[in-house]
Amino acid sequence: MHRTIRRLLVVAAHGDDETLGAGGTLAKLADDGVRISLCVLCDDDGSRSETGQGVTNRVPAIEAAAKILGIERLAVHEYGDNRLDTVGQLELNRVFEREVREFEPDTVFAPSLSDLSLDHQLVSRAARVAGRAGRGPVREIRCFEVRSATDSGEAAGLPVFRPNCWQPLAESHLERKLEALRAYGDELQQWPSPRSERGVRALAEYRGSQVSTAYAEAFELLRVVL
Ligand SMILES: [Zn+2]
Repeated sequence: MHRTIRRLLVVAAHGDDETLGAGGTLAKLADDGVRISLCVLCDDDGSRSETGQGVTNRVPAIEAAAKILGIERLAVHEYGDNRLDTVGQLELNRVFEREVREFEPDTVFAPSLSDLSLDHQLVSRAARVAGRAGRGPVREIRCFEVRSATDSGEAAGLPVFRPNCWQPLAESHLERKLEALRAYGDELQQWPSPRSERGVRALAEYRGSQVSTAYAEAFELLRVVL
């Protein structure tokens, strides 16, 4: 029997990681009455602009997506996109340790160490430190997959994403995930991009078919204390 999630902390480097990785699951859990807090470290998309001109503040989009998914508590930090390595692991650990102290989650969702993005790897490590056994209320840690970050890691020699946990989704949960992605505007690209609506739907169908259900999101379950 699987334990019940009551308080979930989702940590992400960039706004949209949480939606791409676990948006359908977040919509479902919110419907089930789970209290969800989202902590995003970067508030802009600065690395896309070489001059720093035209940098978009992502906070309104993150807020809109969070509302669609049923996330009730949101913290967006002001670290620069693709610069978390200059912030350092220790400070990132402290950010999440503070989140765990304040929100007291029993479960944490984080990016995977399989992701090509260094930001994602740093966030994944910090989440493991903040949620380590015996140091707080966290009883379960899962990693989600983010299309184009998780599927690019293997060719760069990173460990392969190995899901061992599937959350079946209703059509309505997948629709909420797509609606939240639309809130991010340009982040949603044209097919055949993995970040297109069809690409997101295709992954949900593939993960679902692995466990004989119509749609699912898959996770790496790192630790569960029953
Ligand atoms: Zn990201």
